[in-house]
Amino acid sequence: MRKGIFVFAAIIFIAGVSIAQKADKSAKASGSVRLPATAINTMQQIDPQRIRAHVRFLAHDLLEGRGTGARGGEIAAEYIGTQFALYGLKPAGDNGTYMQKVPLVGITPDPATTFSLVPSSGARMDLKPLDQYVAYDQTQQPQSDVNADIVFVGYGIEAPEYKWDDYKGVDVRGKVLLMLVNEPPSDDPKFFKGKALTYYGRWTYKYEEAARKGAVGAILIHKTEMASYPWEVVRNSNSAEKSYLKVEGPVLKVASWIQLDVAGQIASSSGMNLDKMMQDAQSRNFQPVPLPVKLQAHMVSKVRPFESANVIAMLPGGDTKLRNEAVIYTAHYDHLGIRPDMQGDNIYNGANDNDTGCGILLEIARAYTESKQRPRRSILFASVTAEEQGLLGSEYLGKHPPIPAGQITLDLNFDDVPPLGSPEEVEVSGAERTTFFPVVQNMAKTFRLTIRPDSRPEAGHYYRSDHFSLARVGVPSFSINEGVKYKGHDAAWGKQQADEYTAKHYHQPSDEYHPESDFTGDAAMARFGFALGWEAAGQAKEVGWQHGDEFEPARLKSASGSE
Ligand SMILES: [Zn+2]
Repeated sequence: MRKGIFVFAAIIFIAGVSIAQKADKSAKASGSVRLPATAINTMQQIDPQRIRAHVRFLAHDLLEGRGTGARGGEIAAEYIGTQFALYGLKPAGDNGTYMQKVPLVGITPDPATTFSLVPSSGARMDLKPLDQYVAYDQTQQPQSDVNADIVFVGYGIEAPEYKWDDYKGVDVRGKVLLMLVNEPPSDDPKFFKGKALTYYGRWTYKYEEAARKGAVGAILIHKTEMASYPWEVVRNSNSAEKSYLKVEGPVLKVASWIQLDVAGQIASSSGMNLDKMMQDAQSRNFQPVPLPVKLQAHMVSKVRPFESANVIAMLPGGDTKLRNEAVIYTAHYDHLGIRPDMQGDNIYNGANDNDTGCGILLEIARAYTESKQRPRRSILFASVTAEEQGLLGSEYLGKHPPIPAGQITLDLNFDDVPPLGSPEEVEVSGAERTTFFPVVQNMAKTFRLTIRPDSRPEAGHYYRSDHFSLARVGVPSFSINEGVKYKGHDAAWGKQQADEYTAKHYHQPSDEYHPESDFTGDAAMARFGFALGWEAAGQAKEVGWQHGDEFEPARLKSASGSE
């Protein structure tokens, strides 16, 4: 057996020699890529067939779609922890295990919930669930009551770096805040990053900020063009059970959305005009507007506490000083589970999303442990849970990192890396926001990969994957993925593959493992990620954010906290 593995490794090694030699030469030429020969050798052993084997197992029907808190999800976690143990990695979860328990709560709005708008004069409006509003009680109590004045707070954003404050110091404690989605429109890259969406535009930020300010509720006005998705999306993602981390900070009794025409009625019953209010909100001089309308809500929820786990391992670094710091690799293992009520194939295997990322993470981990030389900083590997529930596993990891966040130099994340052959492009959106970007650019050149820019920055993809959870606590983070140009195909082919996947297989039971898939690209992304991580682990200084970035304050805070 062992001999067989050696022979196999040797073949892979030979196949990869050309890249190794190029990496070596380029290192001498530019001085930017400093991987030692042993690291390059181990990197070459990253094996597409091993990634395939991980994907095949994790996407098997026996794992029932790896639902969060479900048996299949737990088997996946145990599988990943077992691989870490076989590689000889140190456990970095709770109490000397690979598992970091993540306490979660499932909330299902009950039909007994009532949600009414009561103007000081005029008729009260009892809103219809799902058609006119959706609402969750974030306090994780079976019942909550709200009877509070509504204040219109424009975009509900306080962003000192853009000199923008919709609250203007007005005390909103105990109030319900009515607000717009997205952020003030702009083409100026220095103002809310122009057309690109910043975190201030995401609905999650708006709820969080309202809670931080002591409000009891928030009502987001849905306008399709502003949200960039229709009401059906809001409705569908807010009708069933939703999972949350067990409450740790301030939360809202009512976290809700309403349809645009309901907002229009609130405005007219206040003697105001919604279009005018929306217009006024686009000004820096906007002031919060108390409305003569109350929200009376009786929130009834089914509350189901449960548990899941992040799987975390560590390779201690080789430098006695720098080993207190680490590079972290992340990839979520959870997917959507199984729908017992559904006809036909009801298992959401999630082969691409995200067994590919898990396979990549595991191969990177194995490569590190096979290197005779250690990187200077330590390397953490975290396969996180509950990504599909709203990045919850990684959020918990960010709030409870195995070493202080200020000592984590970089997070490299892998999510949904399609097995389509040999990539000629790489996507590293967000890397340009960090001080590490020149290294990424050089490394991409060495690997003969063209960096493909984010095609739709206004969609805010940066805020929708696990690396974001690390960015929020200040860790420079980004995901690594293929672009659309593959060897032997034009970019249109790659685009077509991506579109077809999104339309037919993304978050569908048909995201399955196929024996004919080509995992060359997954291995290429793993090698690229390995090389970047090694490089970051050896740099004299920790990676930071570009000056003025929205995550810079969090980094500075965590740096001072860890000293
Ligand atoms: Zn995913």
